[in-house]
Amino acid sequence: MTITIPFDNSYARLPDRFFTKMPPATVPAPALIRFNHTLAAELGIVPGDPDEMAQIFSGNVLPDGADPLAQVYAGHQFGGFSPQLGDGRANLLGEVAQGGARYDIQLKGSGPTPYSRMGDGRAWLGPVIREYIVSEAMHALGVPTSRALAAVSTGENVYREQGALPGAVLTRVASSHIRVGTFQFFAARRDLDGLQALYDYTLTRHYPHVEDPVELLHAVVERQIGLITKWMSVGFIHGVMNTDNTTLSGETIDYGPCAFLDVYHPDTVFSSIDTHGRYAYANQANVIVWNMAQFATALVPLMPDQEDAVEAFTRIIHAMGPKLEAAWLHAFGKKIGLADTKAEDLDLIIGLLQRMAEGRADFTNTFRALIDGQARDQFLDPTAFDSWEADWRARLASEEAPNDVMKAANPVFIPRNHRVEEAIAAAVAGDYSVFERLLDVLSRPYTDQPDASDLRRPPEPAEVVQQTFCGT
Ligand code: AMP
Ligand code: MG
Repeated sequence: MTITIPFDNSYARLPDRFFTKMPPATVPAPALIRFNHTLAAELGIVPGDPDEMAQIFSGNVLPDGADPLAQVYAGHQFGGFSPQLGDGRANLLGEVAQGGARYDIQLKGSGPTPYSRMGDGRAWLGPVIREYIVSEAMHALGVPTSRALAAVSTGENVYREQGALPGAVLTRVASSHIRVGTFQFFAARRDLDGLQALYDYTLTRHYPHVEDPVELLHAVVERQIGLITKWMSVGFIHGVMNTDNTTLSGETIDYGPCAFLDVYHPDTVFSSIDTHGRYAYANQANVIVWNMAQFATALVPLMPDQEDAVEAFTRIIHAMGPKLEAAWLHAFGKKIGLADTKAEDLDLIIGLLQRMAEGRADFTNTFRALIDGQARDQFLDPTAFDSWEADWRARLASEEAPNDVMKAANPVFIPRNHRVEEAIAAAVAGDYSVFERLLDVLSRPYTDQPDASDLRRPPEPAEVVQQTFCGT
């Protein structure tokens, strides 16, 4: 059977200065590691045999209908503006339109482009396995995200700090790869025609009901508030919330140094390059406000009256803090069993989180253990929990079905860092079974799976992952 991808490539029809049209690089010996048949079916993709899919998802053979290109964008990286970034190791093969939605099919690790700067355009197996696991887990957790369609090994080494490592390519699927940084690219060059074309394209693709830039900012802000709240509620730390990694679609993209909390602490940072904790767990809610302010700035030239624009945009940005707090309160209320949280519940939630931080409690296991009354065992000093529990039980008395609320809000399984590392180490040694098992269990993260209780266990001291790396 021959693979069929029903391409319909709209980004490729934008003006030339939006991208560089070019094919992915070829690789010597591609082999299919995994293909996501469920996702393929949703996209109307008919799979082929493994050899053919390895050729296509490594970039060696272009499928019919592809119009490959590398996108250009800009972005604030750790607060500093880079006027030109772009797909330095990615290639957009094209898009498929399915069920009223449109999805990018992009290869990542597909060779150098004009935007590669000092990079080699390649990926090694580790980040490919990591992104596959974490993006699919995020989807199953109910967090808007890019997906993983395929992983292929290339048969060629790439060279990183650790030495020679096996190369790989990930195929990712996203509602689009339009970033805040894409708007910044055109705004910074004062390319008004480009900015207008991008704006029109974004509305058609993501916000058909939006009528002006103020409404667009409002709509994107709402999606980002929803997204960051979900990150916080599952203990996710993105690690590089640069404006070039903040999407207009409101999906999570770019799983580089991301990680999940084990022990709860609001200041947790894993990324090796985030030395000042700009993208620490709890700071993500502040950073998204900053990123949206940069987006607003890029939209100003589109407004007929720029003073009015600044006033309207400022109002939206200033409203973000209280909205984020309200969304956060609601989400964390659910985690302790409150279907409809009231402002007075804030102290109760904060009281638990403070005790968790002091008691070195595991984020995921503590919340889940509230359901079966085992949570006190998660604290270094269980009596700290007892002093909170009485107030909590009193508040729960007026709730109808707190256990159902908690079961839906508190996953049993997350992709724990040490398990992801274990899957990568096994894959490098040629054994993909650890990866496959992790994917299978994480596809049902809210379901108790007694056979997989080992995947609930927090890391032993020797297993704790201290740092994660962009290390593509
Ligand atoms: P990220 O941290 O994934 O957002 O990437 C930041 C920028 O660095 C993007 O423009 C990437 O395309 C580029 N980049 C990252 N890794 C590589 C690589 N191995 N080769 C070329 N460019 C890269
Ligand atoms: Mg990026």
